[in-house]
Amino acid sequence: MSRAEVVVDLNAVRHNVALLVDRAAGAESMAVVKADGYGHGAVPIARAALSAGATWLGSCTLAEGLALREAGITAPILSWLDTPDVDLSAAVPAGIDVGVSSVEELGRLSGARVHLKVDTGLNRNGCPPELWPDLVRAAAASDNEVYAVWSHLACADEPGHPAIDLQAKRFTDAYDIAVSAGLNPRRHLANSAATLTRPDLHFDLVRLGIAMYGLNPLPSNENLRPAMTFRAKVASVKRIPAGESVSYGQTWTAPHDTTLALVTAGYADGVPRLLSNRMSVLINDHRHPIRGRVCMDQIVIDCGDTPVSPGDDVTLFGPGTHGEPTATEWAETIGTIDYEIVTGMYRPRVTRRYVGE
Ligand SMILES: *Cc1c(COP(=O)(O)O)cnc(C)c1O
Repeated sequence: MSRAEVVVDLNAVRHNVALLVDRAAGAESMAVVKADGYGHGAVPIARAALSAGATWLGSCTLAEGLALREAGITAPILSWLDTPDVDLSAAVPAGIDVGVSSVEELGRLSGARVHLKVDTGLNRNGCPPELWPDLVRAAAASDNEVYAVWSHLACADEPGHPAIDLQAKRFTDAYDIAVSAGLNPRRHLANSAATLTRPDLHFDLVRLGIAMYGLNPLPSNENLRPAMTFRAKVASVKRIPAGESVSYGQTWTAPHDTTLALVTAGYADGVPRLLSNRMSVLINDHRHPIRGRVCMDQIVIDCGDTPVSPGDDVTLFGPGTHGEPTATEWAETIGTIDYEIVTGMYRPRVTRRYVGE
């Protein structure tokens, strides 16, 4: 293996998608593969998800959708966020559906299949409720096909949060207005968390993201399998005496003689510098702590008196099944979410390898 690599287990992705498709019951499932499949690789993830029962793909940008088409993927695709300079009309010949949040965006499309997005309280994109009647009227009068009405939830990962029901109510109101305007759209609202917790909000289609990659957005236990493992190698090993310090700023001093392993992954490879002195790694089935500051290309691991050799494999995070840390553990340690950890793993110097193809 290379000095640092991400291994993506497509069997885990298929397991997760099959579980989520089952939980979505009658609704169709969209596999969201934006940001290069949350850092896992959009095309392999899309193929794995489709083979496990997903019937739609979701991308942020039209360019991401077009890349899926260029890879030969023919499943329906929805893309939903581009800057105003992007030529949305390229979606039409590619057969890509476009999320539309305003009359202005609609005006840039002709002969397209569109999903009208209503803002129900997230206040990012989506049409504000007061402009919604104008948007549905304009869409009904245009030569675009309105396939669906959709929205996105702000607090689905906090089951019972009052915003969920409020957004659902606003969503239903917006749908009724679309129907009154003569449209007969499908509906989609649920992300991973709502797919798992709110069957009443599945409607016609659910949009599966983080859970498909095996990371659980909910406080409850779910039978998901994290798909990504981050590995590196021991480059060298040395013994230091008590009183010696490690790495920039000498923030850690050995209380007794110990063996240090130099590992070939640093913050340029996706190890947050905030993990300095705060995380451990797995080497030969043992957890050993990171000592001192995380550097650009390397970290120093304190192996105590446990045998370790140059060339040994190091697991930085993975599914946790062999005692290694998880991406979720990293995120909790530094005050972020696991979404940010895995999407941050797409780096030119870190090779990506697939298993279970
Ligand atoms: C990213 C995204 C999703 C998936 O959300 P998860 O929390 O990862 O399941 C669904 N819908 C939209 C509009 C998104 O941007």
